[in-house]
Amino acid sequence: MMNRDAFQAHQKLPSPSTAVQRTPGHANDAGVTTSEPAAAVTDGSDAIGAGLQNEVGEYNCFLNVIIQSLWHLRRFHDEFLKRSASNHVHVGDPCVICALYEVFHALSMATADSRREAVAPTSLRIALSNLYPDSNFFQKGQMNDASEVLGVIFDCLHRSFTQPSSVSDNESVESNTVGTWDCKYSKACLVHSLFGMDIFERMDCHSCGLESRHLKYTSFFHNINASALRTTKVMSAESSFDDLLDLVERNHQLACDPDSGGCGKLNHIHHFLSSPPHIFTTVLGWQNTRESADDIAATLAALSTDIDMSVLYRGLDPKHIHSLVSVVCYYGQHYHCFAYSHEHDRWIMYDDTNVKVIGSWADVLAMCEKGHLQPQVLFFEAVK
Ligand SMILES: [Zn+2]
Ligand SMILES: [Zn+2]
Ligand SMILES: [Zn+2]
Repeated sequence: MMNRDAFQAHQKLPSPSTAVQRTPGHANDAGVTTSEPAAAVTDGSDAIGAGLQNEVGEYNCFLNVIIQSLWHLRRFHDEFLKRSASNHVHVGDPCVICALYEVFHALSMATADSRREAVAPTSLRIALSNLYPDSNFFQKGQMNDASEVLGVIFDCLHRSFTQPSSVSDNESVESNTVGTWDCKYSKACLVHSLFGMDIFERMDCHSCGLESRHLKYTSFFHNINASALRTTKVMSAESSFDDLLDLVERNHQLACDPDSGGCGKLNHIHHFLSSPPHIFTTVLGWQNTRESADDIAATLAALSTDIDMSVLYRGLDPKHIHSLVSVVCYYGQHYHCFAYSHEHDRWIMYDDTNVKVIGSWADVLAMCEKGHLQPQVLFFEAVK
């Protein structure tokens, strides 16, 4: 590894090499996390971010991949930082949102600085663990699930930005509909306005024509079983990811509701959205943390970087294209993520302190296949 002087000198020069790697993400044997450059890109741009620390025994990787993903979602990044860090309802003690601001500001500083020192996520980790003092959830030194921590951060964001002044009271009440949408403050609430999907479900029986099973709910995630996804891909090899998500959904069939006078025939449920979310988040569920290389490869083959939301949800105009911005993957007990840099038109890997330019989406897929990385959380952002 280069010494710091050589590294900095090197950095000022244009170079065909896109990244300089430092030691692997987990801290060294002595447990010392260095303040040396985490990684750097030699083209002078600040579009490629800094790494996040993960010292021996901390198991921060599940949180680091979520921080990096949120950081790379341009709309979230900009709107979160645009809001005054002090003007929110504090959530937890210490406050999770204050800690998220702290980490984002540190990432901004580190990204702007040529040395790109890795940022410690410790304040956020402590704030999250204090939300659940009586459980193992997010406690320091415990490994956790990336999609779970994302759900908790979403909940904290919702609680912090809820302002009673912006209540909308013009929502019509439909007597035959079960459930409600979560957030009455959707314009003021950052997380609901960017990630939330107010879904309306309905079954239209193809046999007797009855409309039944009306249901309303808010969702942040589109959950899909990895095994169902790859099985569907095998049966429908030409289908893109959005088509596959739709096909898997159509396989979930329920009876035309006899309690509402229905005929009992099986139908799938229609899902309606009146507007697409800015960010569409898919979570892949896997049977275990070390699946076979073949199953991982078959699942990866089903993914696409562009999806049309109108294929998945009714009620939208055609061609609501969302593009993949970040993919959280794991191998065994370790997470890393791949995030797309719009400025560079390249994918970057964030493996704790280790930041590396990967290249095209095909390069990401090849790396996942080779490393047996299982994609878990996929973030798609609306294309303007
Ligand atoms: Zn706060
Ligand atoms: Zn909300
Ligand atoms: Zn029917």
